[in-house]
Amino acid sequence: MTKNFLLAKEVHKSLFDSGFTIPVNLYEIFSCYLRGGRLHHGEKRTIKIFLGDEIFDVTLTSINFNRENYPTNKDIWQVRYSKNSPVAKKIREIFTAKKFFTFCATDVKDVFCLQANSACDELTLENLLELPTLTDTQENFVERLGLKKYRERNRINGERLKKNYGYCCQICGLNVGLFYGAQVADCHHINYFSVSLDNAASNLLIVCPNHHRIIHAANPTFDRERKSFLYPNGLEEILKLNEHL
Ligand SMILES: [Zn+2]
Ligand SMILES: [Zn+2]
Repeated sequence: MTKNFLLAKEVHKSLFDSGFTIPVNLYEIFSCYLRGGRLHHGEKRTIKIFLGDEIFDVTLTSINFNRENYPTNKDIWQVRYSKNSPVAKKIREIFTAKKFFTFCATDVKDVFCLQANSACDELTLENLLELPTLTDTQENFVERLGLKKYRERNRINGERLKKNYGYCCQICGLNVGLFYGAQVADCHHINYFSVSLDNAASNLLIVCPNHHRIIHAANPTFDRERKSFLYPNGLEEILKLNEHL
């Protein structure tokens, strides 16, 4: 079965008990995979979704809001199901520990596919934004996620900051690649990029690869006043280096 990528989204509570919204900029392409073509305002249809090796019926809805009250609002398309439906149960089973899901079309019209996407975790995303050159498949992935414009901006801001800090980690102050003649500083998004899409320097932190892994594994909160990370185990780590936050 061919899968044609449509969208990747963060897993939210609504995915577990009601459904998800199709972004307006996807209506055109999405309609190509619908037997009946474009949805009309207020229309409801049944489509099928593959989840693991099972297939479920869900409702595709164009919300029937009153157009006279909201004349400038675009139509809102959603994939819907009820909290107690078998599909919602299966989704909770598969996606509870996952951060992202992808929604793909198949070669059969009205049949789609929902998957957990481990290849699109926050660290992977950040790395894709930073890599100087991308392979063909990475390029493709970045394009599908619509991240091209963010990527350029990120690389410029990130590279400038890394130089400013002499490739040292703002947390431990070390340039861990120096001894090996390598530059391995990473760029971390304080408010996760997948959520904030914020690439400004004020959202970036230069960190060593070890601290970068630790941040994503332990998920500490960043205190902007104190310029410190507060870890769930109670540890507070104040930035050793900071000139831009
Ligand atoms: Zn470090
Ligand atoms: Zn990061």
